[in-house]
Amino acid sequence: MRVLEAIQAAAPSLSFEFYPPQGPDATARMLRRAERLDRLAPDFVAVTYGAGGRGAAGQAASVEAAAALRSVTRAALVAHLTLVGQSVQELSDAVRRLTAAGAEAFMALRGDPPGGPAAPWVADGALTYASELVALIREISDAPIGVAAFPLGHPTARSLEHDAAVLALKQAAGADFAVTQVMFDAEDYSRLVARAQRAGATLPLVPGVIPITATASVARLELLSGAPLPAALADQLARAEDGAAREAVGVAWSVALGRALLERGAPGIHLYTLNTTAAAEQVCRELGLGGAARV
Ligand code: FAD
Repeated sequence: MRVLEAIQAAAPSLSFEFYPPQGPDATARMLRRAERLDRLAPDFVAVTYGAGGRGAAGQAASVEAAAALRSVTRAALVAHLTLVGQSVQELSDAVRRLTAAGAEAFMALRGDPPGGPAAPWVADGALTYASELVALIREISDAPIGVAAFPLGHPTARSLEHDAAVLALKQAAGADFAVTQVMFDAEDYSRLVARAQRAGATLPLVPGVIPITATASVARLELLSGAPLPAALADQLARAEDGAAREAVGVAWSVALGRALLERGAPGIHLYTLNTTAAAEQVCRELGLGGAARV
């Protein structure tokens, strides 16, 4: 329950997201960085599941990464789980394996089709929507369950209102909280909160923030967020002379965004670390986030 307590506490929660590394060197690097970020005393760290269409091998890598992260952080561990391409038995086994690996909470997700988030979806497993996975996990486990929310709507949503209704369905199925897709403008978060409330989704929505440190990742981020990078941010990144200058731009934008989100009542900040540390550390320090900053 540590995850829910942190999200519901008066002080803003802090969480970091990691993805399963590929290979022993990348794993060692991720663990060193997770250990380093643990000094900021985050409330929870999350590890993504099976992203990138790597099938069973990718799913096993997620379970291994969860167990490895468990060994280097004092924070609660949140395991992502996607339903794509799996039977009910396989999903139930995954819940048990992730619990054995130390997961205290789950993020119940659909996963993307091989063509990416905007590609047409053809259900190729037992379940079709994340809300069904929420219900399945709830049958097996008492652990808190988080779900995805989309400040600008999911790329294939029928409408923003339907997207908010989907969030209410996830809550009705047993979801306790949501983490949002990346965004660059706090106003998008406020609009999401208002839409969710109109649809009856009252669960806490933790905003996802990503400090952009490389122009190479911009196209992917635009696809994920569903919005072009704000012109001012794109301009500052384009004018930055080198990697260090770009990182400074990304950090400054994330700090301003984080501050605006917290002012608007966000319950905390979820930082997409991309398995690196420097930018996340600076953002936390400047926002005064994390248990280490609170004591
Ligand atoms: P759903 O809630 O099932 O929604 C998918 C689409 O179906 C939406 O358009 C929705 O409007 C529609 N829909 C949902 N329910 C219904 C219904 N009952 N009737 C009609 N339409 C419906 N991907 C990974 O592979 N691994 C990860 O670890 C991972 N972690 C993520 C973490 C976060 C915080 C976020 C925001 C995304 C993450 N993703 C991850 C990506 C996610 O899997 C994709 O965005 C996916 O396309 C949608 O997932 P979902 O859980 O929102 O699906």
